[in-house]
Amino acid sequence: MSVDKHVEEEKSLNFLEEIVENDLSAGKYQSIMTRFPPEPNGYLHIGHASSICLNFGLTQKFGGGTNLRFDDTNPVTEDTEYVESIKEDIKWLGFEWKNELYASDYFETLYEFAVRLINKGLAYVDDSTSEEIAQQKGTPTQPGHRNQYAERSVEENLQLFANMRAGKYKDGEKVLRAKIDMESSNMLMRDPILYRIKHAHHHRTGDAWCIYPMYDFAHGQSDSIEHITHSICTMEFVPHREVYDWLIENLGIFPSKQYEFARRNLSHTVTSKRKLLQLVNEKYVSGWDDPRMPTIAGYRRRGYTPESIRDFCDRIGVGKRDNMVDLGLLEFCAREHLNKIALRRMVVFDPVKVVITNYDKESETLLAENNPEDLNTGNREITFSRELYIEREDFMENPPKKYFRLAPGQKVRLKHAYIIQCDEVIKDEAGNVIQLNCTYIPESKSGADTSGIHVKGTLHWVNAKDHIAIQINEYDRLFTVENPANEEGEFQSYINPHSLTVLNGALAEPALKDAVVTDRFQFLRKGYFVLDKESPKDLLVFNRTVTLKDSWAKAGK
Ligand code: ATP
Ligand code: MG
Repeated sequence: MSVDKHVEEEKSLNFLEEIVENDLSAGKYQSIMTRFPPEPNGYLHIGHASSICLNFGLTQKFGGGTNLRFDDTNPVTEDTEYVESIKEDIKWLGFEWKNELYASDYFETLYEFAVRLINKGLAYVDDSTSEEIAQQKGTPTQPGHRNQYAERSVEENLQLFANMRAGKYKDGEKVLRAKIDMESSNMLMRDPILYRIKHAHHHRTGDAWCIYPMYDFAHGQSDSIEHITHSICTMEFVPHREVYDWLIENLGIFPSKQYEFARRNLSHTVTSKRKLLQLVNEKYVSGWDDPRMPTIAGYRRRGYTPESIRDFCDRIGVGKRDNMVDLGLLEFCAREHLNKIALRRMVVFDPVKVVITNYDKESETLLAENNPEDLNTGNREITFSRELYIEREDFMENPPKKYFRLAPGQKVRLKHAYIIQCDEVIKDEAGNVIQLNCTYIPESKSGADTSGIHVKGTLHWVNAKDHIAIQINEYDRLFTVENPANEEGEFQSYINPHSLTVLNGALAEPALKDAVVTDRFQFLRKGYFVLDKESPKDLLVFNRTVTLKDSWAKAGK
């Protein structure tokens, strides 16, 4: 996929916005309600961001509200740490939910719904093992058949279901099933399981329950309880829609409707909480918020802005077909926004000393704009003196033609300062360049240049007498292949061994001393950076958010 295509694409309503618009203009609803329903079993990732932008985006556009509903019906994998992180991430993305709700708060109502179905002869307690149930279900080409338990009377079912709740049976001994159609072409309609027994502690309800509703008997019912008008989920739930509608109709409750869109997957990473949890547990990364993780928390720590993530979700849009979005597009969105807001600073990653032999002042203060894209950000002061550092790779002793950086006898401009010329190269015994003796042109001061000299190269630099040392973490793609989950063998074996490079001894202009984690920086000619939230007290660590240009695209990788 090319980035340009998305840039040029016209903004028209997506298919879900069209549905909502039609429903509203037909008077089907006075206002709409959507919900974002995460299961609190991990941190949110970039795929969730697209679902969040979609659900909250609909009600921002058309009015109404979006609930945050924790789909916490599975006691085993869920945790309050995840609940907290999910809330923090949605807020950080810039969205406000109408109500914070928990499917587990509906357990009593769901139980009553189940009793209602039993009373209507539409649900029964089944003692079969899961193997028997699977076997009786048939196959997509062969109809299933009912067993003797389906013949139980309403009274018997009511009693057995009450016993299930009261904890009289062990895990797996009994289930409650809907009585729908064992011959349906939709396997999910073949008497789906509504409740199972699980003697497990729940993060909110504690030990109050030992029976838990299945997805199909929790999701649609929760939607209905909350009067959700448009319940949006991903394509794998298409076959569940029939069950969703059947249950709502037979319970006679608010008619929420399910709509599906395609999952969004990002290249060179994995977007599945289970796999991300593996990366954390197996210590491939430092945690859920490791800046290489495709989690919202990881992007935040890496220096992405909420605006850039929302822009990305907007550009990829919603569709009906699964697709893989190139990581390059997310990085493009980050550069677009960061270019507008990042404060410019000069940092020399691999220093070599420059001595200005004809500079006889002690030092002088120069003004440098914080951000040429936003003059409201004003200027900062930087100091210039006789001894400076420039980037080692910005000097070449025997340069090829059209080399515009520093070389013997060649002139360059030092950003915000003067034009200098290299006169002499000093080396150590091993032949390494250790110092460049230069002269400067006093009339060439930036902003007041009367020298009439034009140079093609401009270099960043720091004052040798006035700088701080910082650590730089350079991040690259976490995986070497586009779709690690689809490759042969374990997805972990495709991890990029160079996904993190730690660089010590970079020299920065002193203004960076005051950096806070919400600041965004462009280190001139180097990329976009952010202070790492875990920087130790005595060392500032900066994370590279993105490079200035897409080096992967150029390399044709
Ligand atoms: P995972 O497989 O990572 O656990 P999930 O779908 O099980 O994902 P949930 O917490 O159940 O995670 O998802 C909350 C919402 O986010 C659901 O409505 C789901 O459809 C949506 N969602 C999850 N992953 C993606 C994705 N890659 N693209 C778009 N929407 C997604
Ligand atoms: Mg899920």
